[in-house]
Amino acid sequence: MSLVVQKYGGSSLADADSIKRVARRIVDTRKAGNRVCVVVSAMGDTTDELLDLAGAVSPSPPEREMDMLLTAGERMSMALVSMAIANLGDSARSYTGSQAGVITDDVHGKARIIDVTPGRIQEALDGGHIVIVAGFQGVSQDTKEITTLGRGGSDTTAVALAAALEADVCEIYTDVDGIFTADPRIVPSARKIDRISNEEMQEMAASGAKVLMLRCVEYARRFNLPIHVRSSFSHREGTWVYEPDEGETVEAPIIAGVAHDRSEAKLTVVGVKDSPGKAAQIFQAIADAEINIDMIVQNISAADTGRTDVSFTLPKSDGQKGVKVLQAAKEAIGFDSLQYDDQVGKLSLIGSGMRSHPGVSATLFQALADAGINIEMISSSEIRVSVVTRDDQLDDAVRAVHTAFGLDTSEGEAVVYGGTGR
Ligand code: ASP
Ligand code: MG
Repeated sequence: MSLVVQKYGGSSLADADSIKRVARRIVDTRKAGNRVCVVVSAMGDTTDELLDLAGAVSPSPPEREMDMLLTAGERMSMALVSMAIANLGDSARSYTGSQAGVITDDVHGKARIIDVTPGRIQEALDGGHIVIVAGFQGVSQDTKEITTLGRGGSDTTAVALAAALEADVCEIYTDVDGIFTADPRIVPSARKIDRISNEEMQEMAASGAKVLMLRCVEYARRFNLPIHVRSSFSHREGTWVYEPDEGETVEAPIIAGVAHDRSEAKLTVVGVKDSPGKAAQIFQAIADAEINIDMIVQNISAADTGRTDVSFTLPKSDGQKGVKVLQAAKEAIGFDSLQYDDQVGKLSLIGSGMRSHPGVSATLFQALADAGINIEMISSSEIRVSVVTRDDQLDDAVRAVHTAFGLDTSEGEAVVYGGTGR
């Protein structure tokens, strides 16, 4: 008997009818002769609504209480899915993250899983039950407080449980048919990817592709666990995220896909003295504020002033904090001014074939030039090239690059079944 771990996202559980539909799917999987452990997200936009509600009663809610509030979303789903399964005559038991043995560190809002002790889950599965687990949450080993794993964290719960239970497969159910060569909401001609390597998926997720949470991919990679991303609205085969065998990547397509990200802003430190130690001072101040930066660009200094500009990107959510800490260090660092710009977007082209194929960047830049799109920053890794553009040009940029690399399909594959895109 196979053990299947399934995860259903919020858009698959938007209302009572959706929950009944998902319950039927779960029961079918079990009837096909599998043992089934299911991880659920909060219904529809519940998490966002709870966040709004918290904001309405307090401008800065205590993090502990925020986690108590947000974990309620997934608890609603788990109980309702269990009830719907019971109504179909099968037996299901729901468990919170803490009951399921999801042990985390003590960082509220973005806790990391440090261990999974799924004793109760194993017992329930052995007892012939379908198990439903609330995603996105755990319990801190040290403080015993309830924690959440960060937005989209149910994916990570699913992969962590699948690894701990030694499941045969982890199926992530979402509102599209799998992973696409670009976000189908922006590029209707995007193509479904049948198989993508863990490494490429990791870069896609890190570059803003929202289908899978980055940490979930890292986790799956560490445990060599295959993930099948597919739609809960159709029965089509989705995308397999897998670890290629040695040499297998040679035949992989050059480009896997185009990801985009609107969550970052650009901060420019204007008129910094071009002398050793200045960059260190700037980025130490930013690091001390626990802000993760992404791209960095330093221009050559103007000959007459000996001063230069340093730009970098950081999460919009940390933007004001970044401005504040640099402003506070203005005297010590010595610069003219700060420019904060949150009207930017990032496009990333990803593919492991880039390693062995020259000319990828040239084609990318030409495609953007032909579309009249200005590049403000560039960065690259071995299998990725990223550029920052104006926010309002980002969608056009994604479409232009997708076409330039021959990724368009005319088969009309990209169906977005649900979700509000929120
Ligand atoms: N409900 C949480 C969120 O929306 C976790 C998840 O969906 O995975 O971020
Ligand atoms: Mg959600």
